[in-house]
Amino acid sequence: MLGPFQTTTYTDFSDPAHQAAFRAAIDKVTRDLGRTWPVVIAGVEETTENTFGSVNPGDLDQSVGQFADGTVDHADRALDAAWKAFPAWAATPAQDRANILLRAAEMMRLRRHEFSAAMVLEAGKSWPEADADTAEAIDFLDFYARSAVEWAASRPTTPYPGEMNSVHYQPLGAGIAIPPWNFPVAITAGMCAAPIAAGNTMVLKPAEQTPYTGWLVFDLFRQAGLPDGVLNFVTCADGAIVGGHLVQHPRTRFISFTGSRAVGCWIYEEAGKVRPGQIWLKRVVAEMGGKDAILVDEDAHVEAAAVAIVKSAFGFQGQKCSAGSRALIHTALYDEVEARVIALTEKLVQGDPRDVANNAGPVIDEEARDKVLSYIAIGKDEATLLIGGETAPGNGHYIQPTVFGSVPEDGRIANEEIFGPVLALVRVTGYEAGVRIFNDTDYGLTGGFFGTKNIEDAKRRLYCGNLYINRKCTGALVDVQPFGGFNMSGTDAKAGGREHLLQFLQAKSIAERLVPGAY
Ligand code: NAD
Repeated sequence: MLGPFQTTTYTDFSDPAHQAAFRAAIDKVTRDLGRTWPVVIAGVEETTENTFGSVNPGDLDQSVGQFADGTVDHADRALDAAWKAFPAWAATPAQDRANILLRAAEMMRLRRHEFSAAMVLEAGKSWPEADADTAEAIDFLDFYARSAVEWAASRPTTPYPGEMNSVHYQPLGAGIAIPPWNFPVAITAGMCAAPIAAGNTMVLKPAEQTPYTGWLVFDLFRQAGLPDGVLNFVTCADGAIVGGHLVQHPRTRFISFTGSRAVGCWIYEEAGKVRPGQIWLKRVVAEMGGKDAILVDEDAHVEAAAVAIVKSAFGFQGQKCSAGSRALIHTALYDEVEARVIALTEKLVQGDPRDVANNAGPVIDEEARDKVLSYIAIGKDEATLLIGGETAPGNGHYIQPTVFGSVPEDGRIANEEIFGPVLALVRVTGYEAGVRIFNDTDYGLTGGFFGTKNIEDAKRRLYCGNLYINRKCTGALVDVQPFGGFNMSGTDAKAGGREHLLQFLQAKSIAERLVPGAY
């Protein structure tokens, strides 16, 4: 019998023993780098004609590995394998399916630092950020396993004379998971665990920036005993080729996507087209970007607000969909908060994430670096640069944590997702103006409010999927703060929530008439 679900606690890196263990994990993963990794279809590893490389964004001389450049042929065969595996997996009792995920969770607990170290090397995460990512992955595996067992039980219905009525949830079929690179363990594990726990089979196409971490997650499922074909692994140098093909494929039953708004909208539209041979409407989960705001009211605690603003803006270099990239500060406190934000930003230590002392690493790749620098140039035109604003030294894509002050509410840096270490401070004339600006966005993912007297009003009126009062707006925990956004932030699938599995289930209502005298 399982005990109650509990979230995984984070590693305390002030403890020298934990530091030593993590350093050993970095060494272990480093020894494993530079290999060539296959695609895996129906349990069979296949090498491909072409490969592509993954590089450490914090040390461009370090190759993480070579990965199979999968084609549409691999995509077709992987989907086929998933369909072949579907009947047996769907018929596997939920508890048996759950046991495999619980085993995967336990295996990840044992190798926790190894997964985190892979993200330090491949994604440029600091140790605590990587540790939190792995902790969330463990929680997804553990939580969705339990959730699968709960949804497998028939649901109560209103009694009706002469009939036995019931509702049962059953899996959809074979689908695909298309995760992003920024939570390459947690989001990838969660996006596979939920459909699989529910009895579906799938193809995982990891993000091209983090294929090694994707491999580790796939391999964990395999080692935990997932039958061949239930999860198939196809990497691709250009995600649009395998990903796009599977989105459009008439036999794809569901699509679980997390990534940018542009790609998410394209997927949503393409998935809506019914193609020859297709006999269903595809189920689409599309979790997309954000332009998340923290609103600071006139009675806010200045220090708490400033600390939260800096953490929310610069954790993992601002490369989180939940990043608080704009702070809307009441004019009564603006100067004070701005001064503290600058002082706290100055204290961030930039450098190679392999060193535990560094908490501001690189951005993921050249494309991201160029995009962030172009927004910094825009910021220099439309606002006041307070700190940062340049690339930083190091053999990687380092950009200084950058804060702009007195940003106009309609400024581009206050409205467009930058996905990097750039924070816009906006002076607001009062609480009402703050609420209006907070909500005046196409997005609606996370948000924060600092203050006292307007808390209940803020809870009602600030429009976003995950609202945080008097704390940072990042770091949602599984089954504590189910995660998903409104409007152009996505389909609000609430990952890590108790109803999340419904995204991958369909309900069958059964009415059995009790015919008098027939038994
Ligand atoms: P992206 O959209 O560029 O890529 C995401 C995934 O889609 C990758 O695996 C990529 O290979 C694939 N892809 C790209 N083009 C495709 C196509 N035409 N068809 C099918 N697949 C395709 O996003 P990214 O840069 O990896 O991630 C950053 C974005 O993700 C940000 O906007 C961020 O806010 C968002 N994000 C959202 C959440 C959330 O829960 N809402 C979580 C993390 C990241």
